[in-house]
Amino acid sequence: METIVTRFPPSPTGYLHVGGARTALFNWLYARQNNGKFVLRIEDTDTVRSTQASVDAIFEAMRWLELDWDEGPYFQTQRFDLYREYLQKLLDSGDAYYCTCTQQEVEAMRQKAMAEGSKPKYDGRCRERGLPKSDNAVIRFKSPLVGTTVVEDVIKGNIVFQNTEQDDFVVCRSDGAPTYNFVVVVDDITMGINTVIRGDDHVMNTPKQILLYRALQSPLPVFGHVPMVLGKDKTRLSKRHGAMSVTAYRDMGYLPDAFINYLARLGWSHGDQEFFTRQELVEKFSLKNIGKSAGVFDTDKLTALNADHIRAASVRQLAPRVLPFLRGKGHDAADDDYLAGVIGTLHTRSKTLVEMADGAHFYYREDVRPYDGKAAKKFLKPETARVLTLLAEQFEKLADLAEKTQEGAFKRVMDQTGLGFGKIAQPVRVALTGTTVSPGIFELIEVLGKARVLNRLKAAVDFIESAGS
Ligand code: GLU
Repeated sequence: METIVTRFPPSPTGYLHVGGARTALFNWLYARQNNGKFVLRIEDTDTVRSTQASVDAIFEAMRWLELDWDEGPYFQTQRFDLYREYLQKLLDSGDAYYCTCTQQEVEAMRQKAMAEGSKPKYDGRCRERGLPKSDNAVIRFKSPLVGTTVVEDVIKGNIVFQNTEQDDFVVCRSDGAPTYNFVVVVDDITMGINTVIRGDDHVMNTPKQILLYRALQSPLPVFGHVPMVLGKDKTRLSKRHGAMSVTAYRDMGYLPDAFINYLARLGWSHGDQEFFTRQELVEKFSLKNIGKSAGVFDTDKLTALNADHIRAASVRQLAPRVLPFLRGKGHDAADDDYLAGVIGTLHTRSKTLVEMADGAHFYYREDVRPYDGKAAKKFLKPETARVLTLLAEQFEKLADLAEKTQEGAFKRVMDQTGLGFGKIAQPVRVALTGTTVSPGIFELIEVLGKARVLNRLKAAVDFIESAGS
């Protein structure tokens, strides 16, 4: 069987956005599923709008999403010799010709066509003139004058284009720059691309490209045009709908596997299944299950899915992901065992890594004071000092504060004070975390460990006593 070769060819005129990332993902999944090849190509021929910063941003986003490529990155700006060679082929076979019509002349032809009720187009004036190469000549492709060009789209079905609507489009400008549709075809042919999955904003280009394949006597790839990604208001996704850049989602604390799961579901389905591991996506992806209607990007759904992925991930997988967020808060979090313990208590409580790092904050603070004002007022009252002191005394006697070991200590303080567990636990929580919202009290005590717990209980007693004096 022929090896599947797919590609992702972004234009580096901005960051990698959500729609582009989904296109990259579909191509990557299809290649991986078929043990094929995934090629990365940078379409940088628009030298005015292309920037190195965008190239870097695209690589960074691809790496974050773990969409690795097998070939490339190729840069179109480094392939001009090849484009010239292919232009010559078209000229030699009579499929292209030089045209010296001025811009004004071409504009007049377009106006005339429109006035006659047809599409604006070049009228073929130089088609049979046999003009030689000259400084001001463009090269035009000789499009068929009759018949149809059919895009056999694996997603949309057959799309029929009338050749009469197609003019002799320019394949090389007078300054020697080959045009977009031409270089894409030369690249796809020479890179052996046999499957082209791209956004349906490119459908209009495809008949032109098909004509070029035929003229260059190359087999057509399989084409699939994926519907756009829309915002919740059903308009094309834009900045108004929130972040567009893929790396912004990394910075908001989404896991790459959750993000690709969400992207995949945005336009592709496998029954009702919502949660997919990367491996499952590779196994279950199929071109025929890409939907015909546009996907609607919904940040709440992404967040819910992210929470599921965080829950499903192991502490070991989460640790390196949450570390940059902790460092961003000034915690070096160098103790791996401590970090593992911390994550263990936050695992099921965090929808994003940002939330997890926020939740971890109290574990890493040297001192949890100042306490949350309301919490301190309600729970760190004069009579609480005795409870905290008694608990500290009990803890002092224990070798460690493993969850099981603590229970007895709490029990004894309940007996000594006649207070119920809740009445003891809340002040302890405020003393240890600074607030009333935290992971379970036993687990957080075990993770904090004896030294920190005793320090914090003592600090709370000091706080109560100095407030009362
Ligand atoms: N460079 C084009 C883009 O960024 C992709 C073209 C294609 O997939 O054929 O939209």
